[in-house]
Amino acid sequence: MVVRRSRRARRWTIDVPWGEPARLTVPAWMSDREIDRVLHAHRDWLAVQRASQRPRLGLEKRAISELEGRRAARELVSMVADEEAETLGVEVARIQVRDQRTRWGSCSTSGTLSFNWRLVLAPFEVLDYVVVHEVCHLREANHSRRFWRLVESRRPDWRDQKAWLDAHGPELLAFRPAA
Ligand SMILES: [Zn+2]
Repeated sequence: MVVRRSRRARRWTIDVPWGEPARLTVPAWMSDREIDRVLHAHRDWLAVQRASQRPRLGLEKRAISELEGRRAARELVSMVADEEAETLGVEVARIQVRDQRTRWGSCSTSGTLSFNWRLVLAPFEVLDYVVVHEVCHLREANHSRRFWRLVESRRPDWRDQKAWLDAHGPELLAFRPAA
């Protein structure tokens, strides 16, 4: 556990990032004794968090470099995006494949779609859903009911892919290919 004092923190928070030490951030004024109390009170909770973070995807066996991953991702993402954009009659201005740490995809107001290259390590249906989701944003730039109806009409099983991302996304985001 890494303890960090922060002048801006109003209250303490614990982060348990995948594959990294847990982090306790505390307000600068918090005493060592109080910090010990928090750590002690959360020992079991922390163990449960860690237990749920056992690797399940076998990513450590995937001998893929980031460059290879990005290339493969770009190819698949472009294929799905082109097909979907044509069906929906929307224009994709540009596709970016990036090393995002927290998100899978995004859609800018200028029509640029950005995707996390690690999607290539997920089942194809998951990548497919993320791309279709972003292309749908070119029609509906929000998460309104209309947006979700559109997604539903294009990929009726989108909930399965979202559930996969909820379950395995953190492990995937933590993946760092060997240099
Ligand atoms: Zn969205």
